[in-house]
Amino acid sequence: MAKRIPENAGINTRLAHGGNDPLDYFGFINPPVVHASTVLFPDAAALASRAQKYTYGTRGTPTTDALAAAIDEIEGSAGTVIVPSGLMAVIVPLLSFLSAGDHLLIVDSVYYPTRHFADTMLRRFGIDVEYYDPHIGAGIAALMKPNTKVVFTESPGSNTFEVQDIPAIVQAAHEGGAVVMLDNTWATALYFKALDFGVDIVIHAATKYPAGHSDVLLGTASANQKCWERLHETFLTLGCSAGPDDVYQVLRGLRTMGVRLERHQQSTLEIARWLERQEGVARVLYPALESHPDHALWKRDFSGSSGLLSVVLEGGGQAEAHAFLNALGVFGLGYSWGGYESLATLVSIRDRTLAKGPYEGPLVRLQIGLEDVEDLKADLALGLLAARNAA
Ligand SMILES: *Cc1c(COP(=O)(O)O)cnc(C)c1O
Repeated sequence: MAKRIPENAGINTRLAHGGNDPLDYFGFINPPVVHASTVLFPDAAALASRAQKYTYGTRGTPTTDALAAAIDEIEGSAGTVIVPSGLMAVIVPLLSFLSAGDHLLIVDSVYYPTRHFADTMLRRFGIDVEYYDPHIGAGIAALMKPNTKVVFTESPGSNTFEVQDIPAIVQAAHEGGAVVMLDNTWATALYFKALDFGVDIVIHAATKYPAGHSDVLLGTASANQKCWERLHETFLTLGCSAGPDDVYQVLRGLRTMGVRLERHQQSTLEIARWLERQEGVARVLYPALESHPDHALWKRDFSGSSGLLSVVLEGGGQAEAHAFLNALGVFGLGYSWGGYESLATLVSIRDRTLAKGPYEGPLVRLQIGLEDVEDLKADLALGLLAARNAA
């Protein structure tokens, strides 16, 4: 009997059972890791017509199909492309829907490499790139032009965690005939179900929570029915397929993503509330905090919060920030996030043109991992003490 996921199944049931059907492969619970370039055809006619399910490694395998189906199961998408990094998952949708002479609106609090791609390659290819304030909401209607083809969103924003009014932006963008893309890496499908809010293409750095162990780079872009064919066609044109071992690892990570996120959320909320009361902390940027300026919007649309936040130190500059980071022991110093271990980094928002602050001091970004929360607090207390002593 084939596996059946009930229509109204909860998200953790979908995470556990989405993707492959074990009975398609001798009953083994997990799908095979298929390493493939060539796929053989039974005869010349089949070779000529390519009339079989798999035809070449770049066009999909049972391994990539399993992950794509698992993601479609949690996103409610018509199809998902799997690419070698989160950045590529941003790039493929943009290349799918933009042509020379088109206008692109991007949120100013976007992930920096997305901005870099737009400012360099997209501009070189003749695209008019314009940034908008993350709090613009329905006001984005005033920025829409007849040639606006894409409105790119990311909510909450990278490093500063502004929450966007996605339903209002979707409405204005669709009235103007544009496609709405969302980089939803922070919330995942568990805490923000993008396509239900009218987003056309939802993007994830699967490198983060889906992989969950800081050892894999992967990206996914999932589209609704309206946008799937074009997204898929661009993916095939570019040939940007991911390696099978990495695809398999992300499917494996998805199975436990729900429980990991619950722990990330619980610890992060506790640390965020604790940090707000510490000497030397000007503010904590985390939308699940009642003190966050966009808390009401977050509460309206999101069903949870993940493990990434920023702390604004009370005054000081690079010397204080470096003293803070150097005093940490459990927290590692490094980029990326979404793994099991806690990380800290000093972030810069110099590239912004609109969403610049004001902030009272250095901006330190923290990824709260799965360690014991008391150990993390003790580590952060050492950092804050060192920052004060450096002042
Ligand atoms: C990390 C990240 C990406 C890029 O993911 P990589 O796999 O590192 O290329 C894209 N968007 C956001 C919001 C990210 O945090």
